[in-house]
Amino acid sequence: PSYTKDDIRKIAKDENVKFLRLMFTDLYGVIKNVEVPISQLDKLLDNKLMFDGSSIDGFVRIEESDMWLYPDLSTWMIFPWGNEHGKVARIICEVYNADRTPFVGDPRNNLIRVLSEMRKLGFTEFNIGPEPEFFLFKLDPQTGKPTTDLNDKGSYFDLAPVDLGENCRRDIVLELENMGFDVEASHHEVAPGQHEIDFKYADALHACDNIQTFKLVVKTVARKHGLHATFMPKPLDRINGSGMHINMSLFDKNGNAFFDENDNMELSEKARYFLGGLLKHARSFTAITNPTVNSYKRLVPGYEAPVYVAWSGRNRSPLVRVPIARGLSTRLELRSVDPSANPYLAIASILEAGLDGLRNKIEPPKPVDRNIYVMDKEERESNGITDLPSTLHNALKALEKDDVIAKSMGPHLYQSFLEGKRLEWEAYRQEVSQWERDQYLELY
Ligand code: ADP
Ligand code: GLU
Ligand code: MG
Ligand code: MG
Repeated sequence: PSYTKDDIRKIAKDENVKFLRLMFTDLYGVIKNVEVPISQLDKLLDNKLMFDGSSIDGFVRIEESDMWLYPDLSTWMIFPWGNEHGKVARIICEVYNADRTPFVGDPRNNLIRVLSEMRKLGFTEFNIGPEPEFFLFKLDPQTGKPTTDLNDKGSYFDLAPVDLGENCRRDIVLELENMGFDVEASHHEVAPGQHEIDFKYADALHACDNIQTFKLVVKTVARKHGLHATFMPKPLDRINGSGMHINMSLFDKNGNAFFDENDNMELSEKARYFLGGLLKHARSFTAITNPTVNSYKRLVPGYEAPVYVAWSGRNRSPLVRVPIARGLSTRLELRSVDPSANPYLAIASILEAGLDGLRNKIEPPKPVDRNIYVMDKEERESNGITDLPSTLHNALKALEKDDVIAKSMGPHLYQSFLEGKRLEWEAYRQEVSQWERDQYLELY
């Protein structure tokens, strides 16, 4: 929705809003909050509010730590869980340097930049429909800390009483609707304790804002039910992990630019080139769409997560699927993305890959309508099917070789991201796991 400054002043007064949470997202996709009392509202609306950015991951050096927060008025929202003293509203902000230029290390500003490149090619909107999955675990009643005890034994589309998470999920959906989300579906997922809530697609920037808000709401409501919600990609081995499939389409002044009723698949040339770009750069944007050590424990065969770079109009196993819906809903579904990704960086890299396909007319390989998991390596190779990176280390190596994907972040974010993720990998590499002791302690 669009609000003027006066709308916001009036709503804040009428609804007894007492605190403002100014939100932005750090390099690693973690939501950051600066909370100020409502007395600061005018200052905020006039872009006169400063904060100290020096302690934020991937942000700035100490000597230039003071930064401005510019509120995006369209993101104004009142949290439904205020207390007796008054309500709390949130507003998502763009981070600006002291000299009032946009701060290039702000992932949201970066997405705004990549979207402006898209507009230069004649598109009006990059629409994104995310399908975030998550687990609900019990909180330890003594310590209040999350456990890995599952809260139910349900499975895909199961109904209560098996699905004990159902009440919690229903509350989540109600809160989301109170906040203006258009929830399209909510169901138990394949794994025990695993859930999915799908909300309606939106333009890329607001879809990313929605993903961040969604995570906050899910975690807050779960806690009230004595549960811990986690978006960790693979919390338990031997059962499905959590993905965040990304449905996407480009719109121009005539509507959905991916749709062409005259094509035999009813897919436009633009959709094909976009797909060509996605597949070409898939190995290198994986470090961004699957940015944690744990992400790669999910991308293994047997758990409905993709492992190979291929696409299909029918089969669900490949990296990219073209759902059967056409017309306004014509879209590509990228199935590798997981919810630990920074949505702003992930969507920017996906868009950059697709735009490269459009600019350079990259034809995608033939669709693969057979189950790739029953093919051997030779057969995959002869069909032009490559593998997604198997570890964060390999993913970072692929990222370092791809200038197009590097461009999707800009030099500042790119450097900070690579440095941070290299450290994360090194820290992991030095750990000796229980699996290794179980395998080798007695054998050698
Ligand atoms: P699945 O077939 O994988 O189960 P869902 O029906 O759960 O897919 O999710 C579909 C998602 O795609 C929803 O978020 C929906 O809003 C979104 N969607 C629909 N049309 C478009 C479009 N044109 N562009 C982007 N996303 C879209
Ligand atoms: N949980 C699966 C994944 O890791 C996806 C299941 C589905 O198709 O919804 O991506
Ligand atoms: Mg799912
Ligand atoms: Mg899906």
